Amino acid sequence: MKVISAKDLELDEPQFKHCTGTRNACKLCTPLGACLAFRGVEGAIPFLHGSQGCSTYIRRYLISHFREPIDIASSNFSEDSAVFGGASNFKAGVANVVRQYKPKMVAVATTCLSETIGEDMTRLFHDYMKEEWFEGHPHMVKVSTPSYSGTHIDGFHAAVRALVATLAVPGDRTRRVNLFSGMVSAADLRYLKEVLEDHKVPYTLLPDYSESMDGETWSEYEKLQSGGTPIADIMASGCAQTSIEFGRTLSEYPSAGKFLSERFNVPNRQLGLPIGIRETDAFFEALAEVSGEPTPVKHTRERGRLVDSLIDGHKYVFEKRAIVYGEEDLVVGIASFLSEIGVVPVLCASGGKSGRLKRSLHDAIPTLDDRTHIHDGIDFAQIGEMADTLRADFIIGSSKGYQLSRKLDVPLIRIGFPIHDRIGGHRVLHLGYRGAQSLYDTIVNALMDVKQTNSPIGYSYL
Ligand code: SF4
Repeated sequence: MKVISAKDLELDEPQFKHCTGTRNACKLCTPLGACLAFRGVEGAIPFLHGSQGCSTYIRRYLISHFREPIDIASSNFSEDSAVFGGASNFKAGVANVVRQYKPKMVAVATTCLSETIGEDMTRLFHDYMKEEWFEGHPHMVKVSTPSYSGTHIDGFHAAVRALVATLAVPGDRTRRVNLFSGMVSAADLRYLKEVLEDHKVPYTLLPDYSESMDGETWSEYEKLQSGGTPIADIMASGCAQTSIEFGRTLSEYPSAGKFLSERFNVPNRQLGLPIGIRETDAFFEALAEVSGEPTPVKHTRERGRLVDSLIDGHKYVFEKRAIVYGEEDLVVGIASFLSEIGVVPVLCASGGKSGRLKRSLHDAIPTLDDRTHIHDGIDFAQIGEMADTLRADFIIGSSKGYQLSRKLDVPLIRIGFPIHDRIGGHRVLHLGYRGAQSLYDTIVNALMDVKQTNSPIGYSYL
């Protein structure tokens, strides 16, 4: 067994063309992640303390991916607010939203501008509540999300932590399991609920935007789409028997699970995103332990069919080379899955900078060798420079990699967020044996398509 030294865990020193700025970031705006997490709470409206442009940009990104409307309120900073502070805009804005939307929660995230001028959000909340509070007023939650010091994933995790830190209450221990899934697709959330229900354990899945961001057609317009984690369930998270949170890079992070563990002694298990067989096995083992039930046969059969299909398709994927990019934990999960099926992840790249990417990849993939380059804090221009020499057979990540796939003339396997150039990005299933099956079929078929297209004969039997 190879012993990993501290030197091995230092990230490769990038030798890129000198450039002081970020060119096409491989990450998104921090409050975007917070807004999505907040829309995963029943009756919550996200409210940005900052300029309208931030809320418009975030809405555009979310709508183009989910193909659903989303309202994000804003305190609408003007030049005056940027100089003298946005206290009056904040007060008027929140009061308007409460009156017009009648939400169950107003969930406030800061933006670059309000953070830069040093808005004292605790004082703003205090002053607002002193003047505007009434019996039955919606819950108020706030999170600090300066985009220049993080990514959309940092905003997402910070918002989830803020929700439990504000709402969870102590009480008698219950059988409940808290599941903090991270920023996964609507299809992934529905899958996780099915798995939890199959294990017959009461649960708090936070957040849950599987309906609010992927709902049915309405007979009448809904200002705030239904669905989302009930507020009562978030309150009950402090009495749960355990928390499970996905994210190998979260170990140093002040996460929701860690908060509940420190404040209410709720044991916290941090697992990798359950992508591929190894990481999904760990998730099902944890569920069997906390539920006291063996893995339901429906899921063991899905695992068996997956293993069988890996044998069927092995000759098409073995030793193929892939570039993986995106959020750090997604990169870890996908790279782990690729290694299982015989694909070499020649580059694992992320715009995130948790400092845990390399360690997490080595933990998840014991066989990782020096054919894999690992870079955090990287942008798409730098990924493109590296890709020139890597001879990748395909790339896998969000639709932001389309230009790269076009330049390399290799398939792009669209996963994660955002997917803006295809329909159904939010219905891509990544998690569990079922998600691995779907990803596997997509990857193998993309490679078979390349082989078929490039064949001078045009075989119809591959
Ligand atoms: S200014 Fe900051 S918070 Fe606003 S959209 Fe840009 S990155 Fe996001």
